[in-house]
Amino acid sequence: MTIPAISNLIIQLILAISVAFLFSALLPIRWICAMLPRGLARSTWRSMSVLIIFSAAGVAVFLRINTTEAPNPHDDWLVSLVFLAASIFVLTVCTLALHTAKDLSKIADLEHAAIIDPVTELFNRRHIMALLDAQCQHSSQHNSPFSILLIDVDNFKTINDTFGHRTGDTVLKELGRVIAHIIPDSRSIGRYGGEEFLVILPQSASSEAWRIAEELRAAVQSTKIASQRAPINSPTISIGIATAYGWKETSEDLIEIADQALYSAKAAGRNCVCHAFESSGRPLESKFTVVSAAQ
Ligand code: GH3
Ligand code: MG
Ligand code: MG
Repeated sequence: MTIPAISNLIIQLILAISVAFLFSALLPIRWICAMLPRGLARSTWRSMSVLIIFSAAGVAVFLRINTTEAPNPHDDWLVSLVFLAASIFVLTVCTLALHTAKDLSKIADLEHAAIIDPVTELFNRRHIMALLDAQCQHSSQHNSPFSILLIDVDNFKTINDTFGHRTGDTVLKELGRVIAHIIPDSRSIGRYGGEEFLVILPQSASSEAWRIAEELRAAVQSTKIASQRAPINSPTISIGIATAYGWKETSEDLIEIADQALYSAKAAGRNCVCHAFESSGRPLESKFTVVSAAQ
């Protein structure tokens, strides 16, 4: 082989590698790995080397077809090197962009995990309490009404003891789904504790909160949950409601009021709603009174 022919071969090779780099930059690395045999697809660099070998083979075939051309060696070298540098640059930028996208998606996953309860896929306690803090602040500043519902599954320990913890989790998940279906804004529902849920109803005064709580209670009572061992009797819930108008105290104080209402609902026989409401002008301890229970 003559020297110009060898030079031509190298130039063609560089061009082919550049084309391979450009082409691979267009594809997610995952796709390239997926196209290669299993053993070879372990790392990006191995996939790249295989691509280069394939391109070299392609050039060899190309040269067999295209042997007669007599190129200007100087210009061709320059063009091919510039082309190679540009393609490496494009490949690097694309690979970096791909890694950045992966990092961003990992950050999004972590952010999701930090606020979402994995069993019910509702907000976890920390996040729903942060939302309640914000709601209390808003109510205090604008003197606006809002309500919270503290929901507790009745006799949940019996469900766990009878059907197992895993079925208990399924019940929690299903109840979370029922609650999310009925509450107008799913951004205000959280799992407060083991088998307790907290719902914030912004702008809802007593009557609206009562209506929603009753709807929830009835919906849960008519929910059928399948178990591998035996059919589960429809679970029931008890709900304590607290409604505030221009709330000046802490979110924990409001939860405590709702908890008292919930306690009254349990004492009233479970599967019922109790409502604590604000009667203005009295000290905090007696500001809220349990006014009714429904069976
Ligand atoms: P009550 O009607 O008075 O609320 O009775 P209860 O049995 O629901 O209440 P209790 O506080 O006695 O029991 C709550 C149970 O919830 C005990 C605990 O093992 C269970 N629990 C808490 N967290 C989870 C969970 O994530 N998954 C499951 N399956 N069970 C849980
Ligand atoms: Mg409980
Ligand atoms: Mg319970």
